[in-house]
Amino acid sequence: MWICPNCQREFKRKNQGHFCGEAPKTIDDYIQGQSHQEELQALRKAISQAIPEAEERIAWTMPTYWKGKNILHFAAKKQHIGFHIGQKAIAHFEEELADFPTSKGTVKLPYDKPLPLELIEGIAKWCLEEYGE
Ligand SMILES: [Zn+2]
Repeated sequence: MWICPNCQREFKRKNQGHFCGEAPKTIDDYIQGQSHQEELQALRKAISQAIPEAEERIAWTMPTYWKGKNILHFAAKKQHIGFHIGQKAIAHFEEELADFPTSKGTVKLPYDKPLPLELIEGIAKWCLEEYGE
Protein backbone atom coordinates (compact mmCIF):
# COMPACT_ATOMS: atom_id res chain seq x y z
CA MET A 1 0.00 0.00 0.00
CA TRP A 2 1.21 3.47 -0.91
CA ILE A 3 -0.38 6.79 0.06
CA CYS A 4 0.18 9.71 -2.29
CA PRO A 5 1.76 12.48 -0.20
CA ASN A 6 -0.11 15.09 -2.29
CA CYS A 7 -3.74 13.86 -2.42
CA GLN A 8 -3.59 11.22 0.39
CA ARG A 9 -5.26 8.57 -1.76
CA GLU A 10 -4.23 4.94 -1.27
CA PHE A 11 -2.82 2.80 -4.07
CA LYS A 12 -1.58 -0.76 -4.40
CA ARG A 13 1.72 0.21 -6.02
CA LYS A 14 4.23 2.86 -5.04
CA ASN A 15 4.15 6.00 -7.22
CA GLN A 16 1.15 4.71 -9.14
CA GLY A 17 0.09 7.18 -11.83
CA HIS A 18 -3.20 8.87 -11.01
CA PHE A 19 -5.09 12.08 -11.50
CA CYS A 20 -3.80 13.96 -8.52
CA GLY A 21 -5.65 16.76 -6.78
CA GLU A 22 -8.04 18.19 -9.37
CA ALA A 23 -11.52 17.02 -10.30
CA PRO A 24 -11.41 14.63 -13.27
CA LYS A 25 -12.88 15.88 -16.54
CA THR A 26 -12.95 12.61 -18.50
CA ILE A 27 -13.59 8.98 -17.60
CA ASP A 28 -9.90 8.24 -18.19
CA ASP A 29 -8.91 10.94 -15.71
CA TYR A 30 -11.41 9.57 -13.23
CA ILE A 31 -10.16 5.99 -13.48
CA GLN A 32 -6.54 7.17 -13.24
CA GLY A 33 -7.35 8.56 -9.82
CA GLN A 34 -8.61 5.24 -8.44
CA SER A 35 -6.92 2.23 -6.93
CA HIS A 36 -9.04 -0.44 -8.68
CA GLN A 37 -8.32 0.65 -12.23
CA GLU A 38 -8.48 -2.82 -13.77
CA GLU A 39 -12.03 -3.48 -12.57
CA LEU A 40 -13.16 0.02 -13.54
CA GLN A 41 -11.72 -0.31 -17.04
CA ALA A 42 -13.37 -3.72 -17.45
CA LEU A 43 -16.73 -2.26 -16.46
CA ARG A 44 -16.23 0.72 -18.72
CA LYS A 45 -15.28 -1.50 -21.66
CA ALA A 46 -18.37 -3.66 -21.20
CA ILE A 47 -20.65 -0.60 -21.14
CA SER A 48 -18.95 1.07 -24.13
CA GLN A 49 -19.25 -2.12 -26.17
CA ALA A 50 -22.90 -2.55 -25.28
CA ILE A 51 -23.96 1.04 -26.02
CA PRO A 52 -21.38 2.61 -28.36
CA GLU A 53 -23.94 5.25 -29.37
CA ALA A 54 -23.89 6.74 -25.87
CA GLU A 55 -21.43 9.51 -25.05
CA GLU A 56 -18.95 9.18 -22.20
CA ARG A 57 -18.79 12.16 -19.88
CA ILE A 58 -18.48 13.15 -16.25
CA ALA A 59 -21.73 14.17 -14.56
CA TRP A 60 -22.39 14.51 -10.82
CA THR A 61 -18.61 13.91 -10.51
CA MET A 62 -19.09 10.35 -11.82
CA PRO A 63 -18.33 8.57 -15.10
CA THR A 64 -21.57 8.83 -17.03
CA TYR A 65 -23.10 7.51 -20.24
CA TRP A 66 -25.32 10.02 -21.96
CA LYS A 67 -27.68 10.04 -24.92
CA GLY A 68 -29.96 13.05 -24.78
CA LYS A 69 -30.18 12.30 -21.05
CA ASN A 70 -28.00 10.62 -18.44
CA ILE A 71 -28.40 6.87 -18.95
CA LEU A 72 -26.24 5.48 -16.16
CA HIS A 73 -23.29 6.32 -13.94
CA PHE A 74 -20.66 4.40 -12.04
CA ALA A 75 -18.45 5.37 -9.16
CA ALA A 76 -15.44 3.82 -7.43
CA LYS A 77 -15.99 3.18 -3.73
CA LYS A 78 -13.58 1.61 -1.26
CA GLN A 79 -14.95 -1.95 -1.41
CA HIS A 80 -17.10 -1.88 -4.52
CA ILE A 81 -18.11 -0.11 -7.70
CA GLY A 82 -21.40 1.73 -7.38
CA PHE A 83 -23.31 1.05 -10.60
CA HIS A 84 -26.04 3.67 -10.75
CA ILE A 85 -28.75 2.36 -13.05
CA GLY A 86 -31.96 3.70 -11.50
CA GLN A 87 -34.83 2.06 -9.63
CA LYS A 88 -36.60 0.95 -12.79
CA ALA A 89 -33.60 -1.03 -14.04
CA ILE A 90 -33.09 -2.62 -10.63
CA ALA A 91 -36.72 -3.72 -10.58
CA HIS A 92 -36.45 -5.06 -14.13
CA PHE A 93 -33.25 -7.04 -13.41
CA GLU A 94 -34.24 -8.07 -9.90
CA GLU A 95 -33.66 -11.82 -10.42
CA GLU A 96 -30.33 -11.42 -12.22
CA LEU A 97 -29.12 -9.03 -9.52
CA ALA A 98 -30.12 -11.32 -6.64
CA ASP A 99 -26.45 -11.94 -5.70
CA PHE A 100 -25.59 -8.25 -5.50
CA PRO A 101 -26.60 -5.71 -2.87
CA THR A 102 -28.73 -2.89 -4.24
CA SER A 103 -30.07 0.32 -2.80
CA LYS A 104 -31.77 3.45 -4.16
CA GLY A 105 -31.10 2.79 -7.83
CA THR A 106 -27.54 1.57 -7.26
CA VAL A 107 -26.01 -1.90 -7.56
CA LYS A 108 -22.89 -2.64 -5.53
CA LEU A 109 -20.29 -4.61 -7.48
CA PRO A 110 -17.67 -5.74 -4.94
CA TYR A 111 -14.04 -5.79 -6.10
CA ASP A 112 -13.51 -9.26 -4.66
CA LYS A 113 -16.19 -10.78 -6.90
CA PRO A 114 -15.87 -11.23 -10.68
CA LEU A 115 -17.77 -8.55 -12.59
CA PRO A 116 -20.95 -9.94 -14.22
CA LEU A 117 -19.96 -8.48 -17.60
CA GLU A 118 -22.77 -10.00 -19.66
CA LEU A 119 -25.36 -8.79 -17.19
CA ILE A 120 -23.73 -5.33 -17.18
CA GLU A 121 -24.00 -5.19 -20.97
CA GLY A 122 -27.64 -6.23 -20.82
CA ILE A 123 -28.39 -3.59 -18.21
CA ALA A 124 -26.59 -0.89 -20.21
CA LYS A 125 -28.64 -1.71 -23.33
CA TRP A 126 -31.86 -1.73 -21.34
CA CYS A 127 -31.03 1.63 -19.72
CA LEU A 128 -30.24 3.17 -23.09
CA GLU A 129 -33.63 2.07 -24.46
CA GLU A 130 -35.46 3.14 -21.35
CA TYR A 131 -33.73 6.39 -20.38
CA GLY A 132 -32.01 7.56 -23.58
CA GLU A 133 -33.46 9.97 -26.13
ZN1 LIG B 1 -2.03 12.14 -5.56
